[in-house]
Amino acid sequence: MVLVWREFQPIAAIATTPSAAKILQPLTQTAGATLWIPNSLTNVEALHSTSLQVYHGSLKDHLTEIWHQHQAFIFCLAAGAVVRLIAPLLQDKSRDPAVVVLDENGKFVISLCSGHQGKADQLARAIAHSIGATPVLTGASSALKLPGVDILGVPFGWSRGEGDWTEVSAAVARGELVQVIQEAGSTLWQNHLPQHPFYFGFPEYTAAHKEESVSPKARIWISSTQRQFSNESDLPKVQWHPRVLWVGIGCERGTSRKLIETAIEQVFRKNHLAIGAIAGIGTIDLKADEVGLVEFCRDRNLPLRTFRAEILRSVTVPNPSNVVEAEVGTPSVAEAAAIYAAGEARFPEVSKLLVPKQIFRLEGQPGAVTVAIAQSNLEYTGRTGCLFLIGTGPGKLDQMTPAAQTAISQADAVIGYSLYIDLITPLLRPGQIVEALPITQERQRAERAIELANWGLTVAVVSSGDCGIYGMAGLVLEELQAKGWDGKTPGVQVFPGITALQAAASRVGAPLMHDFCAISLSDLLTPWEVIEKRLKAAAQADFVTALYNPRSQTRTQQIATATEIFLQYRDPKTPVAIVKSAYRQDEQIALTTLDKLLTMSIDMLTTVLIGNQSTRTHADWMITPRGYLGFDNENC
Ligand code: SAH
Repeated sequence: MVLVWREFQPIAAIATTPSAAKILQPLTQTAGATLWIPNSLTNVEALHSTSLQVYHGSLKDHLTEIWHQHQAFIFCLAAGAVVRLIAPLLQDKSRDPAVVVLDENGKFVISLCSGHQGKADQLARAIAHSIGATPVLTGASSALKLPGVDILGVPFGWSRGEGDWTEVSAAVARGELVQVIQEAGSTLWQNHLPQHPFYFGFPEYTAAHKEESVSPKARIWISSTQRQFSNESDLPKVQWHPRVLWVGIGCERGTSRKLIETAIEQVFRKNHLAIGAIAGIGTIDLKADEVGLVEFCRDRNLPLRTFRAEILRSVTVPNPSNVVEAEVGTPSVAEAAAIYAAGEARFPEVSKLLVPKQIFRLEGQPGAVTVAIAQSNLEYTGRTGCLFLIGTGPGKLDQMTPAAQTAISQADAVIGYSLYIDLITPLLRPGQIVEALPITQERQRAERAIELANWGLTVAVVSSGDCGIYGMAGLVLEELQAKGWDGKTPGVQVFPGITALQAAASRVGAPLMHDFCAISLSDLLTPWEVIEKRLKAAAQADFVTALYNPRSQTRTQQIATATEIFLQYRDPKTPVAIVKSAYRQDEQIALTTLDKLLTMSIDMLTTVLIGNQSTRTHADWMITPRGYLGFDNENC
């Protein structure tokens, strides 16, 4: 299963006509969907495939049967029919699956139901990119180019808290002023909002805003605090809870799940903390098999981090205990585990103990439990990140593969050199984190991408052309290897793109019809002696040769030396193509010969293609014959 589609699994696709089935069939491969067809279609020739499933009886009954087993439904069926079919099955938008409808021409992909929380908008975009259709998103936030209020914390694993989600979303949709007060969690989501109705912090308390009489029409709290909203206030509010709180637990053997749960709930209530802000539980390794604790974590889907006594001993705590030390070898379990778990995420020195240890017993429940809470400065996302290493092709969007386009549109974060980010702007969606870095900072880009992926985000790293040809793919993989990567987490998927030599060749004809090679003249990362050796070998062996990075403002000698080397082995009249900015707005193409190569305008956006001994030109075209014998039709 490709990583791009993993968030929607399992997916059911449903078709009731042969043409609908043909439109949906590719999605069984690309998206890993199960395609259901009625048994009346089983005789259709083109549909014999292992990825098909046949249902008997009415579609309505079948849908009822499979509804709860799927996260997403893709119909190629009249939208009205779909509405009638799903109406009895819908419950509410926090639980319903994504429902997407395609028209029978495969031109439009409508996000019909559960656009935000069910991810139907995202799925519609992904399908549209992968089949070259138009996504139809009818939600207000998508028109405003804003992330939906009810999904803005999803990439970071925040919990949706209490509040009037409908009214706050409506205020955003009306373009009203919405106050955002963020006390915890990543602020990356704020960096790429368009002209927006959000303002951040408490401007009503500043003199300047008082004069302007700013008055918000809704409020979004992002914090670990559990706020009680009064019914009297007419300002609609919602709260998101980034998962920053680590609960340290110490307990007697056999402590019940109920006691653990009650103790945690009481401490949270007393301290006005949100249960949704719990990142996970920390304890000593002796408790890794403590039944009540394990069950509590499993039911609440919380990670249980256990630490050895030696580790816990090293943590400074406010309330150490000699009794505990004598028993388990560390003077603190709950406080030390909370602090350590919170700090493990990043910067241990700044994780802070929020609530010191409290001891609980409950009548009728076995055991005793100690609870402490520490706050991390980095939220736990609860997600497994992945890296999409993407080649965007030479420039124009239509030269990029649909798979690469889909991957970019799905990523939580997109990282690349600013020029290439500009080229892919139409693919970006509201709420995505976009980090453009200057061209020289490739290593920083790779490190940043890995950092975000290790944290749980889906990160697209974009390179022009092919990402594995003098691109970012190698850098990222090298860096992962250096960090002791296990090859699986974060997941990696590489999306190929049309590289500069192919793009350049296509603009002048067929110069690469025989054996060819690419040589980069940049000696920033490769010693010049190595480059020179390869130039000689390529020239001598009669390879058609593509020169990447031929000349920069400071590196001007390399192309002169390269030309000299080729002139030693090839006819001065050997055809040469100079292609600058292929498939971009300022594209320039020139054909010349080896002896005139240095008189041409060549820069860092140029690829130079030097023909072999048989390459010739015809009008404005450059042709390398397929064979050296003049009549070789083999493998045509
Ligand atoms: N990963 C890229 C190559 C990056 S190295 C790829 O696969 O295409 C950068 C060099 O690629 C440039 O110096 C230039 O030689 C070449 N290049 C990149 N895009 C180009 C384009 N649109 N037209 C011509 N050459 C290009």
